[in-house]
Amino acid sequence: MRIHHLTAGYFRPPLRGLTQGGKGAALGRGEYVIHCLLVELGDRLLLVDTGLGRRDMDRPLRQLGWGMAWFGGASNGASLSEQIVSLKQNGDVAAGLHVTDIIMTHLDGDHTGGLADFPDARVHVNGLELEAWRRGPGPAGRQRYVNAHFAHGPDWLKYREFPLDWFGFAAARLEGLPDDILLVSLPGHTLGHCGIAIETTDGWQLHAGDAAYHSAWLKGKRPPLSLQIAEHLLKQDPSAWRNSLDKLIALKDSGQVTLFTSHDPEMFAKLALR
Ligand SMILES: [Zn+2]
Repeated sequence: MRIHHLTAGYFRPPLRGLTQGGKGAALGRGEYVIHCLLVELGDRLLLVDTGLGRRDMDRPLRQLGWGMAWFGGASNGASLSEQIVSLKQNGDVAAGLHVTDIIMTHLDGDHTGGLADFPDARVHVNGLELEAWRRGPGPAGRQRYVNAHFAHGPDWLKYREFPLDWFGFAAARLEGLPDDILLVSLPGHTLGHCGIAIETTDGWQLHAGDAAYHSAWLKGKRPPLSLQIAEHLLKQDPSAWRNSLDKLIALKDSGQVTLFTSHDPEMFAKLALR
């Protein structure tokens, strides 16, 4: 199994000093990634999340709303489908392989933009997440889900039972996929938010989605205050979020798993350059 770490677009929020910190001009723009996985399964391809789609990148305000477009600074890059074409042209991925399955960490609009580019793929998701989207906009709902991303009618496969124990987390096997790929319950950011664990020859990797926007959290520190506020406003269950984060910090510190989240560029850079 081969894993490609790809970013499908970027977030470049204004006032870096307030929204991201780290190197770079405090008044300039920050840069967050939208970390997705392309997994080669031998005879087919699998995606974890789909990031921004081409339409989102070309018309962020219209597609994503002011929260992601203005405050988040949703920005251009290559969509996953465009990157897969390039990988095939370069011989990095066999031309005959197609995306048959997509596993979603959750259904926020910055993770679902590429779904329509793979209309025949089966889309694996926590059932709670699907219900939350179908219930329609609640608090923050209008800034959360992008209905246009689902207009093609995805072939959903939903999960409600998490019977396995994976390093202390509740987990589930995925229908039609190998046993070394698991859906891991990580509630808090959304009620049905999940991570995706994949066992490789170098050990387990965990895509922990939006369990933490910034790597500071995973080091037991705090990111800039404005980012904490934005993150807090989007949490659907703050105590579950804290519990998931504490468990992730312990897992990371144990050194048993390579752990990364959706938006942090530091973790992405280490894995994308492998
Ligand atoms: Zn996100």
